[in-house]
Amino acid sequence: MPAMQPNHFVPTVAMAIAAHPDDIEFGCAGTCAKWAQQGARVVYVLVTSGNAGTHDPTHTRDSLAALREQEQLAAAAVCGVSDVEFLRYNDGEVTPSLALRMDLVRLIRKHKPEVVIAMDPRMIFSGDDYINHPDHRAVGLATLEAVFPAAAMPLWHPELGAPHKVREVWVQWAEDPNVWVDISDTLALKVQALMMHKSQVEPKVAEMVQRWAWEAGRGLCPTEAFKVMRLMKRDPSPEDGQATAQDPTSAMLRN
Ligand SMILES: [Zn+2]
Repeated sequence: MPAMQPNHFVPTVAMAIAAHPDDIEFGCAGTCAKWAQQGARVVYVLVTSGNAGTHDPTHTRDSLAALREQEQLAAAAVCGVSDVEFLRYNDGEVTPSLALRMDLVRLIRKHKPEVVIAMDPRMIFSGDDYINHPDHRAVGLATLEAVFPAAAMPLWHPELGAPHKVREVWVQWAEDPNVWVDISDTLALKVQALMMHKSQVEPKVAEMVQRWAWEAGRGLCPTEAFKVMRLMKRDPSPEDGQATAQDPTSAMLRN
């Protein structure tokens, strides 16, 4: 096993696109906080404001959305993220529509991310106790369709902005990860950000998320794991070519 090295890759601009407030905190907030600390501009895009996510009969859709947007903004601030875009689709009703793809193309062209973090459109269920939320799949598919080829094509809806090529797509919660990001320095921020979603998470979730991070890093260090697709090659760096991406320690050498 190679010795663990610090991660080097930091995108100039990263955009995390999620279905609901708290999806980013569960999935990739440790990586986003790490990149923000190292100078990246990080943008969160929330397709819904989670306006159906309660069993509390005193809430309306509007009151719940307002509360959850405040929680999301607080969570983003913990991780050094101040750019948060809300598309305000109805929670539970998201489909990978042309309208959603166009909304995402508009935001990709506006912010020009080098890396887009997507949800996994392939996951219908996982293990023997989890059915994936349909909004997660729909947002994941719309994200990929917005990245390629739509956002980069000049004749495709020029009114949505100048074309932009996303270099890399990082799929969070993927069951076939090829990159593990060491979040030793930002795990506490990830947990703190998650706890900002007071309407959604109980305190015991903090322990669970920390355990997941250590399990993802196979006990070596806390990590977030991604299926990374490099649509455009990175410039050669000293880290490239040192390792394969088959296990966390070797993949972390490269990232
Ligand atoms: Zn969700």
